[in-house]
Amino acid sequence: MASHDFDVLIVGSGLAGLSAALHLAPTHSVAVLTKRALNDGSSQWAQGGIAAVLGEGDSLQSHVDDTLIAGAGLCDLAATRFVVEHAPEAIAWLRELGVPFSLENGELHLTREGGHSQRRIAHVTDATGAAVQRTLIEIVRRTPGITLFEEHTLVDLITGRKLGLADPACLGLYALDEATDEVITFRAAHTILATGGAGKVYLYTTNPDTATGDGIAAAWRAGCRVANMEFIQFHPTCLYHPHAKSFLISEAVRGEGGLLKLPDGTRFMPAHDARAELAPRDVVARAIDFEMKKHGLDCVHLDISHQSPVFLQEHFPNILARCAELGIDITREPIPVVPAAHYTCGGVLSDLSGRTDVPGLYAIGETACTGLHGANRLASNSLVECMVFARAAALAIAEAPAHAGAELPPWDDSRVTDADETVVISHNWDELRRFMWDYVGIVRTNKRLERAAHRIALLAAEIHEFYAHFHVTRDLLELRNLVQVAELIVRSAQARRESRGLHFSRDYPSLAAPAAPTILVPPAA
Ligand SMILES: Cc1cc2nc3c(=O)[nH]c(=O)nc-3n(C[C@H](O)[C@H](O)[C@H](O)COP(=O)(O)OP(=O)(O)OC[C@H]3O[C@@H](n4cnc5c(N)ncnc54)[C@H](O)[C@@H]3O)c2cc1C
Repeated sequence: MASHDFDVLIVGSGLAGLSAALHLAPTHSVAVLTKRALNDGSSQWAQGGIAAVLGEGDSLQSHVDDTLIAGAGLCDLAATRFVVEHAPEAIAWLRELGVPFSLENGELHLTREGGHSQRRIAHVTDATGAAVQRTLIEIVRRTPGITLFEEHTLVDLITGRKLGLADPACLGLYALDEATDEVITFRAAHTILATGGAGKVYLYTTNPDTATGDGIAAAWRAGCRVANMEFIQFHPTCLYHPHAKSFLISEAVRGEGGLLKLPDGTRFMPAHDARAELAPRDVVARAIDFEMKKHGLDCVHLDISHQSPVFLQEHFPNILARCAELGIDITREPIPVVPAAHYTCGGVLSDLSGRTDVPGLYAIGETACTGLHGANRLASNSLVECMVFARAAALAIAEAPAHAGAELPPWDDSRVTDADETVVISHNWDELRRFMWDYVGIVRTNKRLERAAHRIALLAAEIHEFYAHFHVTRDLLELRNLVQVAELIVRSAQARRESRGLHFSRDYPSLAAPAAPTILVPPAA
């Protein structure tokens, strides 16, 4: 069986993983493992931009305050200050690397987004993530000291605890190589999880296929606490079309007068909130969910056809073109939309250096719960969090004392066979994502959560048996992780007996005091 030794293993090649790799490469041998191609993560799809205090009249305190307000009483103040204070240098770093930010009179052009009291969003037109990833990938590919392993999926972390050693530290990991179907052992003193969020646990999501919560599930199995998993941010308007996987219809469409309607043309937002279509994200998402459930609809409509074709071409060229490809002429007809899971606010509990509960194991980016987002994420705060914590983890690793690596056992698949019924996996995937949408979505009740918990237990038992008896495949690994993450979301939602931020329960519609994070502790080994 193949095995590899490095100083640092980084799982994930989004903005968090690649930033960490670039900071570490001058001094460490680094392996970046990623389960598909390098740009197959959420980072590639980020549109709006990156928040930082850069303009005149803005202040660090104002960015901190906006973040705390969005987070509904649950942001960690130290983490919030840490990110806000380091955000300007993160943007400067990207500029040095050559990211072509949009400029105005030679200065960064800053936009303003919902929840921000100032213009502070640096961006590259409406495709910031793609530009950042393109630049970083190009540099990473030619940086000595970084070895890239595409099409390699983390199977599990290897810890001293699992091997029965006195030191419980993370010693490396097993990864499935898609090309050979072999599970390879990677050994290192430091492992960074940068595997992104878990949007794929829901039927509708803006996230790419890679967002299956693998890092969160693996860290939990390795003995890490996870926090705030009930806080899933739903974007109100994702294009609803069988061939339009995860296409966002920007909130700017509502900003420019787009109206939400039932299929018979009736507007419904004024009945839900005085701000109608311009109400905050979570209010609009809840209203759409309510109308869809009440009328048994597959989607609602977003109508911007009163604007001229010239205006639409000028303001929304991408949306116009993507809808046209699918046969929807937005200059004449409404756009079918559904709310969709967008961002995982919770994750692996980590400190200001990205350290987790397991020595030698770090979590950064959307996989981590640093405390920055609290109960609701402020727009454009996540890309910056990826960069700030990537740098902090790299510094902590550089200062960490070296420790002797142990011999790691190779992956043992001598007692398993090829699965005879892979249809079971795809069926379970569908079932999980559908009932999570119906029972653990935007509006929750005790009864729905109980039903979900029951079904998750059945699925978990089935998957456990599959995992124990058959060769692992990427689909099976992802399903195993999604079921684990679903369980963590449901348990966290059941533990929160109030409605706060993104968690809304019909049984507990008010806020409770004091505000506290939901922290789940894994079972002892
Ligand atoms: C449509 C969309 C628009 C957004 N717009 C913005 C925005 O404007 N501003 C903002 O701040 N945020 C935005 N966000 C959120 C932001 O993009 C993400 O939070 C951020 O990019 C996460 O970066 P990451 O590096 O943590 O994870 P990702 O970029 O998702 O990368 C995760 C990586 O881990 C890999 N991976 C996962 N599991 C495994 C495994 N088992 N083995 C190996 N590799 C694995 C994936 O393949 C991928 O390479 C947006 C998100 C979406 C989906």
